[in-house]
Amino acid sequence: MQNVSEIKHEKCYGCGACEGCPMEAVKLKEDKFGFRYPHVDKEKCTACGACLRGCPVLYKGNNQQGQTAYAARSRNQKVLSMSSSGGLGYEIGRWMIKKGGMVCGAAWDKDLLVKHVVINDERELDKIQGSKYVQSKCDGVYTEIVNLLKSGYPVLFVGTPCQVAAVKMAADGYEDYLYTMDIICHGVPNQKMFKEYLEMLGKKYSGKVIEFSFRDKQRGWGTVGKAKIKTDKKMFSLPIYKTEQSYYYYYLRGFLSRQSCYACPFASRERVGDITIGDYWGIESVHPEIKDIEKGISLMICNTEKGKKIIQELSGIEMVKTDLDKACRYNGQLVKPQGYDEKREELMQLYIDGGWKSIEERFDKNIGVRRYADRVKAMVPRWVVRKIKQNR
Ligand SMILES: Cc1cc2nc3c(=O)[nH]c(=O)nc-3n(C[C@H](O)[C@H](O)[C@H](O)COP(=O)(O)OP(=O)(O)OC[C@H]3O[C@@H](n4cnc5c(N)ncnc54)[C@H](O)[C@@H]3O)c2cc1C
Repeated sequence: MQNVSEIKHEKCYGCGACEGCPMEAVKLKEDKFGFRYPHVDKEKCTACGACLRGCPVLYKGNNQQGQTAYAARSRNQKVLSMSSSGGLGYEIGRWMIKKGGMVCGAAWDKDLLVKHVVINDERELDKIQGSKYVQSKCDGVYTEIVNLLKSGYPVLFVGTPCQVAAVKMAADGYEDYLYTMDIICHGVPNQKMFKEYLEMLGKKYSGKVIEFSFRDKQRGWGTVGKAKIKTDKKMFSLPIYKTEQSYYYYYLRGFLSRQSCYACPFASRERVGDITIGDYWGIESVHPEIKDIEKGISLMICNTEKGKKIIQELSGIEMVKTDLDKACRYNGQLVKPQGYDEKREELMQLYIDGGWKSIEERFDKNIGVRRYADRVKAMVPRWVVRKIKQNR
Protein backbone atom coordinates (compact mmCIF):
# COMPACT_ATOMS: atom_id res chain seq x y z
CA MET A 1 0.00 0.00 0.00
CA GLN A 2 1.25 3.48 -0.85
CA ASN A 3 -1.13 5.67 1.11
CA VAL A 4 -4.39 5.69 3.10
CA SER A 5 -6.59 6.03 0.01
CA GLU A 6 -6.12 2.26 -0.27
CA ILE A 7 -7.74 1.59 3.13
CA LYS A 8 -11.29 0.39 2.46
CA HIS A 9 -14.03 2.87 3.44
CA GLU A 10 -15.84 0.36 5.63
CA LYS A 11 -12.65 -0.02 7.68
CA CYS A 12 -11.67 3.65 8.02
CA TYR A 13 -12.48 5.09 11.49
CA GLY A 14 -12.27 8.73 10.35
CA CYS A 15 -9.93 9.54 13.26
CA GLY A 16 -7.92 12.00 11.18
CA ALA A 17 -4.47 10.66 12.11
CA CYS A 18 -3.51 10.58 8.41
CA GLU A 19 -3.94 14.36 8.19
CA GLY A 20 -0.57 14.56 9.96
CA CYS A 21 1.01 13.89 6.52
CA PRO A 22 4.33 15.79 6.34
CA MET A 23 3.50 16.92 2.78
CA GLU A 24 -0.02 18.04 3.80
CA ALA A 25 -1.32 15.75 1.07
CA VAL A 26 -4.13 14.16 3.12
CA LYS A 27 -7.37 15.86 4.12
CA LEU A 28 -10.56 14.36 5.50
CA LYS A 29 -13.64 15.21 3.45
CA GLU A 30 -17.30 14.51 4.11
CA ASP A 31 -19.08 11.94 1.98
CA LYS A 32 -22.74 12.48 1.01
CA PHE A 33 -23.90 11.32 4.45
CA GLY A 34 -21.43 13.48 6.37
CA PHE A 35 -18.92 10.79 7.38
CA ARG A 36 -15.34 11.96 6.88
CA TYR A 37 -12.80 9.99 4.82
CA PRO A 38 -9.24 10.77 3.75
CA HIS A 39 -8.59 12.24 0.32
CA VAL A 40 -5.04 12.15 -0.97
CA ASP A 41 -3.73 14.90 -3.22
CA LYS A 42 -1.73 12.87 -5.74
CA GLU A 43 0.30 15.91 -6.74
CA LYS A 44 1.61 16.33 -3.20
CA CYS A 45 1.88 12.66 -2.15
CA THR A 46 5.43 11.29 -2.23
CA ALA A 47 4.31 7.78 -1.17
CA CYS A 48 6.47 8.06 1.95
CA GLY A 49 4.00 5.88 3.89
CA ALA A 50 3.69 8.23 6.91
CA CYS A 51 -0.12 8.19 6.69
CA LEU A 52 -0.15 4.41 6.86
CA ARG A 53 2.33 4.24 9.73
CA GLY A 54 -0.09 6.39 11.75
CA CYS A 55 -3.31 4.65 10.68
CA PRO A 56 -5.04 2.80 13.56
CA VAL A 57 -6.65 0.39 11.07
CA LEU A 58 -3.16 -1.14 11.07
CA TYR A 59 -2.83 -0.99 14.89
CA LYS A 60 -1.30 -4.20 16.19
CA GLY A 61 -2.58 -5.04 19.66
CA ASN A 62 -1.91 -3.23 22.89
CA ASN A 63 0.28 -3.77 25.89
CA GLN A 64 -2.50 -4.95 28.18
CA GLN A 65 -0.97 -6.44 31.31
CA GLY A 66 -3.76 -8.08 33.31
CA GLN A 67 -6.97 -6.20 33.99
CA THR A 68 -8.48 -5.01 37.25
CA ALA A 69 -11.94 -3.50 37.24
CA TYR A 70 -13.66 -1.11 39.63
CA ALA A 71 -16.97 0.56 40.23
CA ALA A 72 -15.80 4.15 40.68
CA ARG A 73 -17.12 7.67 41.10
CA SER A 74 -16.01 11.12 42.11
CA ARG A 75 -16.58 12.10 45.74
CA ASN A 76 -17.36 15.60 44.54
CA GLN A 77 -21.15 15.92 44.07
CA LYS A 78 -20.86 18.83 41.64
CA VAL A 79 -18.42 16.90 39.42
CA LEU A 80 -20.71 13.90 39.56
CA SER A 81 -23.77 15.96 38.56
CA MET A 82 -22.02 17.47 35.54
CA SER A 83 -20.46 14.22 34.28
CA SER A 84 -22.15 11.45 32.31
CA SER A 85 -21.37 8.58 34.66
CA GLY A 86 -19.02 8.67 37.66
CA GLY A 87 -16.99 11.74 36.69
CA LEU A 88 -13.79 9.82 35.93
CA GLY A 89 -13.04 11.81 32.77
CA TYR A 90 -12.94 14.88 35.00
CA GLU A 91 -11.11 13.36 37.97
CA ILE A 92 -8.40 11.59 35.98
CA GLY A 93 -7.97 14.80 33.98
CA ARG A 94 -7.50 16.65 37.28
CA TRP A 95 -4.85 14.11 38.31
CA MET A 96 -2.91 14.87 35.12
CA ILE A 97 -3.16 18.65 35.49
CA LYS A 98 -1.97 18.42 39.09
CA LYS A 99 1.10 16.57 37.77
CA GLY A 100 1.81 19.56 35.52
CA GLY A 101 0.61 17.84 32.37
CA MET A 102 -2.01 18.43 29.67
CA VAL A 103 -5.35 16.78 29.03
CA CYS A 104 -6.87 16.23 25.60
CA GLY A 105 -10.59 15.45 25.44
CA ALA A 106 -13.78 16.19 23.49
CA ALA A 107 -15.45 19.59 23.96
CA TRP A 108 -18.39 21.44 22.37
CA ASP A 109 -17.47 24.58 20.45
CA LYS A 110 -19.74 27.64 20.19
CA ASP A 111 -21.57 26.15 17.16
CA LEU A 112 -22.16 22.86 19.02
CA LEU A 113 -19.60 21.00 16.98
CA VAL A 114 -17.43 18.55 18.91
CA LYS A 115 -13.65 18.86 18.80
CA HIS A 116 -10.75 17.45 20.78
CA VAL A 117 -9.00 20.24 22.65
CA VAL A 118 -5.88 20.35 24.80
CA ILE A 119 -6.20 21.97 28.22
CA ASN A 120 -3.85 22.56 31.12
CA ASP A 121 -6.06 24.40 33.59
CA GLU A 122 -8.28 22.60 36.09
CA ARG A 123 -10.91 25.33 35.66
CA GLU A 124 -11.36 24.29 32.03
CA LEU A 125 -11.93 20.60 32.71
CA ASP A 126 -15.70 21.12 32.65
CA LYS A 127 -15.40 21.71 28.87
CA ILE A 128 -14.58 18.06 28.30
CA GLN A 129 -17.00 16.65 30.86
CA GLY A 130 -19.96 14.68 29.55
CA SER A 131 -20.51 12.35 26.61
CA LYS A 132 -21.16 13.83 23.20
CA TYR A 133 -22.69 11.16 21.00
CA VAL A 134 -21.15 12.32 17.76
CA GLN A 135 -17.69 11.79 16.25
CA SER A 136 -15.30 14.34 17.67
CA LYS A 137 -12.91 16.08 15.25
CA CYS A 138 -9.28 15.55 16.18
CA ASP A 139 -7.87 17.93 13.55
CA GLY A 140 -4.28 18.75 14.46
CA VAL A 141 -4.33 17.25 17.94
CA TYR A 142 -2.16 14.22 17.23
CA THR A 143 0.69 16.45 16.06
CA GLU A 144 0.10 18.82 18.98
CA ILE A 145 0.31 15.92 21.45
CA VAL A 146 3.51 14.55 19.92
CA ASN A 147 5.07 18.02 20.14
CA LEU A 148 4.05 18.29 23.80
CA LEU A 149 5.53 14.87 24.55
CA LYS A 150 8.74 15.83 22.74
CA SER A 151 8.92 18.93 24.96
CA GLY A 152 8.67 16.74 28.06
CA TYR A 153 5.01 17.39 29.03
CA PRO A 154 2.98 14.43 30.25
CA VAL A 155 -0.29 14.17 28.33
CA LEU A 156 -3.55 12.36 29.09
CA PHE A 157 -5.63 11.61 25.99
CA VAL A 158 -9.28 10.59 26.42
CA GLY A 159 -11.32 9.42 23.46
CA THR A 160 -12.96 6.62 21.56
CA PRO A 161 -10.78 3.49 21.30
CA CYS A 162 -9.93 4.19 17.63
CA GLN A 163 -8.77 7.71 18.54
CA VAL A 164 -6.68 6.26 21.38
CA ALA A 165 -5.07 3.78 18.97
CA ALA A 166 -4.36 6.71 16.62
CA VAL A 167 -2.69 8.80 19.30
CA LYS A 168 -0.60 5.83 20.44
CA MET A 169 0.61 5.25 16.89
CA ALA A 170 1.36 8.96 16.42
CA ALA A 171 3.36 9.02 19.66
CA ASP A 172 5.41 5.94 18.83
CA GLY A 173 8.89 6.54 20.28
CA TYR A 174 7.69 9.31 22.66
CA GLU A 175 5.13 7.34 24.62
CA ASP A 176 6.82 7.40 28.06
CA TYR A 177 4.73 10.35 29.22
CA LEU A 178 1.60 9.53 27.25
CA TYR A 179 -1.37 8.26 29.29
CA THR A 180 -4.50 7.11 27.53
CA MET A 181 -8.08 6.49 28.54
CA ASP A 182 -10.54 4.91 26.11
CA ILE A 183 -14.29 5.05 26.55
CA ILE A 184 -16.53 2.06 26.02
CA CYS A 185 -18.06 3.10 22.72
CA HIS A 186 -21.43 2.30 21.18
CA GLY A 187 -20.41 3.91 17.85
CA VAL A 188 -20.15 7.40 16.40
CA PRO A 189 -22.59 9.28 14.17
CA ASN A 190 -21.38 12.29 12.18
CA GLN A 191 -21.56 16.01 12.89
CA LYS A 192 -23.43 16.91 9.67
CA MET A 193 -26.50 14.91 10.67
CA PHE A 194 -26.32 16.11 14.26
CA LYS A 195 -26.15 19.74 13.13
CA GLU A 196 -29.21 19.31 10.90
CA TYR A 197 -31.06 17.68 13.78
CA LEU A 198 -30.21 20.65 16.05
CA GLU A 199 -31.36 23.12 13.40
CA MET A 200 -34.62 21.24 13.07
CA LEU A 201 -35.08 21.21 16.85
CA GLY A 202 -34.45 24.94 17.00
CA LYS A 203 -36.99 25.61 14.21
CA LYS A 204 -39.60 23.50 15.96
CA TYR A 205 -39.41 25.86 18.94
CA SER A 206 -38.91 29.03 16.83
CA GLY A 207 -35.44 29.59 18.21
CA LYS A 208 -31.92 28.21 18.30
CA VAL A 209 -30.35 25.43 20.35
CA ILE A 210 -27.51 27.09 22.24
CA GLU A 211 -26.54 24.27 24.59
CA PHE A 212 -27.00 20.54 24.36
CA SER A 213 -26.29 17.69 26.72
CA PHE A 214 -26.95 14.03 25.99
CA ARG A 215 -26.81 13.11 29.63
CA ASP A 216 -28.50 15.42 32.10
CA LYS A 217 -28.81 14.19 35.66
CA GLN A 218 -31.73 16.32 36.78
CA ARG A 219 -33.88 13.20 36.53
CA GLY A 220 -31.06 10.93 37.71
CA TRP A 221 -28.35 8.92 35.94
CA GLY A 222 -29.58 7.55 32.65
CA THR A 223 -30.06 8.54 29.06
CA VAL A 224 -32.17 11.67 29.37
CA GLY A 225 -30.53 14.80 27.99
CA LYS A 226 -31.23 18.51 27.95
CA ALA A 227 -31.23 21.24 25.30
CA LYS A 228 -31.17 24.94 26.04
CA ILE A 229 -33.16 26.85 23.45
CA LYS A 230 -33.10 30.60 22.87
CA THR A 231 -35.89 32.38 21.04
CA ASP A 232 -36.45 36.13 20.47
CA LYS A 233 -38.50 36.31 23.64
CA LYS A 234 -37.12 33.72 26.07
CA MET A 235 -34.63 31.01 26.93
CA PHE A 236 -35.76 27.61 28.16
CA SER A 237 -34.58 24.05 28.76
CA LEU A 238 -36.08 21.11 26.97
CA PRO A 239 -35.66 17.54 28.30
CA ILE A 240 -34.28 15.24 25.62
CA TYR A 241 -36.01 11.89 26.03
CA LYS A 242 -34.75 9.22 23.67
CA THR A 243 -38.25 8.13 22.71
CA GLU A 244 -39.19 11.72 21.78
CA GLN A 245 -36.11 12.74 19.85
CA SER A 246 -35.26 11.30 16.45
CA TYR A 247 -31.47 11.68 16.74
CA TYR A 248 -31.15 10.11 20.18
CA TYR A 249 -33.62 7.36 19.32
CA TYR A 250 -31.86 6.29 16.13
CA TYR A 251 -28.42 6.71 17.70
CA LEU A 252 -29.22 4.37 20.57
CA ARG A 253 -30.78 1.87 18.18
CA GLY A 254 -27.44 1.85 16.36
CA PHE A 255 -28.72 3.26 13.04
CA LEU A 256 -26.53 6.35 12.78
CA SER A 257 -23.03 5.06 13.33
CA ARG A 258 -20.15 5.17 10.94
CA GLN A 259 -19.83 2.02 8.83
CA SER A 260 -16.59 0.94 10.55
CA CYS A 261 -18.26 0.95 14.00
CA TYR A 262 -20.28 -2.17 13.15
CA ALA A 263 -17.09 -4.20 12.87
CA CYS A 264 -15.04 -2.26 15.41
CA PRO A 265 -12.05 -4.38 16.49
CA PHE A 266 -11.72 -2.34 19.70
CA ALA A 267 -15.18 -3.21 21.04
CA SER A 268 -13.94 -6.11 23.12
CA ARG A 269 -12.37 -7.06 26.44
CA GLU A 270 -8.94 -6.36 24.90
CA ARG A 271 -8.70 -2.63 25.52
CA VAL A 272 -6.48 -0.07 23.88
CA GLY A 273 -6.15 2.55 26.66
CA ASP A 274 -4.23 2.41 29.94
CA ILE A 275 -7.63 2.85 31.53
CA THR A 276 -11.09 2.18 30.10
CA ILE A 277 -14.17 4.02 31.34
CA GLY A 278 -17.86 3.55 30.73
CA ASP A 279 -21.22 3.50 32.48
CA TYR A 280 -21.50 0.83 35.10
CA TRP A 281 -24.86 -0.39 33.81
CA GLY A 282 -26.14 -3.30 35.89
CA ILE A 283 -24.50 -2.04 39.09
CA GLU A 284 -27.78 -2.62 40.98
CA SER A 285 -27.44 -6.36 40.36
CA VAL A 286 -23.65 -6.72 40.61
CA HIS A 287 -23.18 -4.46 43.66
CA PRO A 288 -26.50 -4.09 45.50
CA GLU A 289 -24.46 -2.94 48.52
CA ILE A 290 -23.39 0.28 46.75
CA LYS A 291 -25.93 2.96 47.64
CA ASP A 292 -26.90 6.38 46.31
CA ILE A 293 -26.17 5.69 42.66
CA GLU A 294 -28.72 8.23 41.39
CA LYS A 295 -25.94 10.60 40.34
CA GLY A 296 -24.11 7.90 38.38
CA ILE A 297 -21.22 5.52 38.66
CA SER A 298 -18.58 4.39 36.20
CA LEU A 299 -16.99 1.12 35.33
CA MET A 300 -13.22 1.71 35.35
CA ILE A 301 -10.88 -0.93 33.93
CA CYS A 302 -7.18 -0.74 34.56
CA ASN A 303 -5.34 -2.34 31.62
CA THR A 304 -1.65 -1.52 32.03
CA GLU A 305 1.11 -0.58 34.49
CA LYS A 306 0.53 3.08 33.61
CA GLY A 307 -3.14 2.62 34.42
CA LYS A 308 -2.15 1.13 37.79
CA LYS A 309 0.03 4.14 38.51
CA ILE A 310 -2.85 6.53 37.76
CA ILE A 311 -5.21 4.62 40.03
CA GLN A 312 -2.70 4.48 42.90
CA GLU A 313 -2.21 8.23 42.73
CA LEU A 314 -5.87 9.21 42.35
CA SER A 315 -7.54 11.13 45.12
CA GLY A 316 -11.14 12.29 45.25
CA ILE A 317 -12.49 9.01 43.87
CA GLU A 318 -14.45 6.34 45.67
CA MET A 319 -13.82 2.89 44.18
CA VAL A 320 -14.70 -0.73 44.81
CA LYS A 321 -13.11 -3.70 43.02
CA THR A 322 -15.56 -5.45 40.75
CA ASP A 323 -15.94 -8.60 38.69
CA LEU A 324 -15.34 -7.70 35.03
CA ASP A 325 -17.10 -10.84 33.76
CA LYS A 326 -20.25 -9.77 35.56
CA ALA A 327 -19.93 -6.14 34.38
CA CYS A 328 -19.61 -7.36 30.77
CA ARG A 329 -23.07 -8.94 30.96
CA TYR A 330 -24.62 -5.47 31.13
CA ASN A 331 -22.35 -3.63 28.71
CA GLY A 332 -22.59 -4.91 25.16
CA GLN A 333 -19.70 -2.94 23.66
CA LEU A 334 -17.23 -4.47 26.12
CA VAL A 335 -17.84 -7.74 24.39
CA LYS A 336 -18.62 -6.96 20.75
CA PRO A 337 -19.43 -4.10 18.36
CA GLN A 338 -23.00 -2.83 18.17
CA GLY A 339 -25.20 -4.95 15.92
CA TYR A 340 -25.78 -3.97 12.32
CA ASP A 341 -29.37 -3.70 11.17
CA GLU A 342 -30.22 -3.34 7.49
CA LYS A 343 -32.78 -0.69 8.43
CA ARG A 344 -29.79 1.62 8.83
CA GLU A 345 -29.47 1.75 5.04
CA GLU A 346 -33.14 2.76 4.70
CA LEU A 347 -32.49 5.60 7.11
CA MET A 348 -29.35 6.69 5.25
CA GLN A 349 -31.30 6.66 1.98
CA LEU A 350 -34.01 8.81 3.56
CA TYR A 351 -31.29 11.25 4.54
CA ILE A 352 -29.97 11.43 0.99
CA ASP A 353 -33.51 11.96 -0.33
CA GLY A 354 -34.57 14.73 2.01
CA GLY A 355 -32.00 15.45 4.72
CA TRP A 356 -32.74 15.14 8.43
CA LYS A 357 -36.29 16.38 7.77
CA SER A 358 -37.11 13.04 6.09
CA ILE A 359 -35.69 11.10 9.02
CA GLU A 360 -37.71 13.20 11.43
CA GLU A 361 -40.89 12.54 9.41
CA ARG A 362 -40.28 8.82 9.51
CA PHE A 363 -39.65 8.98 13.24
CA ASP A 364 -42.89 10.91 13.86
CA LYS A 365 -44.86 8.44 11.74
CA ASN A 366 -43.44 5.30 13.37
CA ILE A 367 -43.01 6.11 17.01
CA GLY A 368 -46.73 6.48 17.87
CA VAL A 369 -47.58 6.31 21.57
CA ARG A 370 -44.14 4.86 22.37
CA ARG A 371 -43.06 8.51 22.18
CA TYR A 372 -44.22 8.99 25.76
CA ALA A 373 -42.47 5.92 27.19
CA ASP A 374 -39.39 7.70 28.51
CA ARG A 375 -41.32 10.69 29.84
CA VAL A 376 -43.55 8.31 31.81
CA LYS A 377 -40.54 6.24 32.98
CA ALA A 378 -38.90 9.41 34.26
CA MET A 379 -41.88 9.95 36.58
CA VAL A 380 -41.24 6.67 38.39
CA PRO A 381 -39.21 7.35 41.56
CA ARG A 382 -35.56 6.33 41.18
CA TRP A 383 -35.65 4.00 44.19
CA VAL A 384 -38.44 2.02 42.51
CA VAL A 385 -36.42 1.75 39.27
CA ARG A 386 -33.40 0.58 41.28
CA LYS A 387 -35.43 -2.09 43.10
CA ILE A 388 -36.81 -3.38 39.78
CA LYS A 389 -33.32 -3.56 38.29
CA GLN A 390 -31.93 -5.29 41.38
CA ASN A 391 -34.53 -8.04 41.07
CA ARG A 392 -33.95 -8.71 37.38
C1 LIG B 1 -19.77 8.16 21.36
C2 LIG B 1 -19.81 7.54 22.74
C3 LIG B 1 -20.38 6.29 22.91
C4 LIG B 1 -20.41 5.67 24.18
N1 LIG B 1 -20.95 4.42 24.32
C5 LIG B 1 -20.94 3.82 25.55
C6 LIG B 1 -21.45 2.48 25.73
O1 LIG B 1 -21.95 1.86 24.80
N2 LIG B 1 -21.37 1.93 26.98
C7 LIG B 1 -20.82 2.60 28.03
O2 LIG B 1 -20.76 2.06 29.13
N3 LIG B 1 -20.34 3.85 27.89
C8 LIG B 1 -20.37 4.47 26.68
N4 LIG B 1 -19.84 5.73 26.52
C9 LIG B 1 -19.15 6.35 27.67
C10 LIG B 1 -20.08 7.04 28.65
O3 LIG B 1 -21.11 7.73 28.00
C11 LIG B 1 -19.26 8.06 29.48
O4 LIG B 1 -18.58 8.94 28.62
C12 LIG B 1 -18.22 7.39 30.30
O5 LIG B 1 -18.85 6.52 31.19
C13 LIG B 1 -17.40 8.42 31.08
O6 LIG B 1 -18.22 9.11 31.96
P1 LIG B 1 -17.59 9.89 33.18
O7 LIG B 1 -18.68 10.52 33.96
O8 LIG B 1 -16.66 8.99 33.92
O9 LIG B 1 -16.66 10.97 32.43
P2 LIG B 1 -16.83 12.54 32.25
O10 LIG B 1 -16.16 13.19 33.41
O11 LIG B 1 -18.23 12.91 31.93
O12 LIG B 1 -15.91 12.74 30.95
C14 LIG B 1 -16.33 12.28 29.69
C15 LIG B 1 -15.11 11.96 28.86
O13 LIG B 1 -15.53 11.43 27.62
C16 LIG B 1 -14.83 12.07 26.56
N5 LIG B 1 -15.76 12.23 25.42
C17 LIG B 1 -16.99 12.79 25.45
N6 LIG B 1 -17.53 12.77 24.23
C18 LIG B 1 -16.61 12.22 23.40
C19 LIG B 1 -16.59 11.96 21.99
N7 LIG B 1 -17.59 12.27 21.19
N8 LIG B 1 -15.48 11.39 21.48
C20 LIG B 1 -14.43 11.07 22.28
N9 LIG B 1 -14.39 11.31 23.61
C21 LIG B 1 -15.49 11.86 24.17
C22 LIG B 1 -14.42 13.43 27.10
O14 LIG B 1 -13.22 13.82 26.51
C23 LIG B 1 -14.27 13.19 28.59
O15 LIG B 1 -12.95 12.95 28.92
C24 LIG B 1 -19.85 6.36 25.28
C25 LIG B 1 -19.31 7.65 25.11
C26 LIG B 1 -19.27 8.23 23.84
C27 LIG B 1 -18.66 9.61 23.67
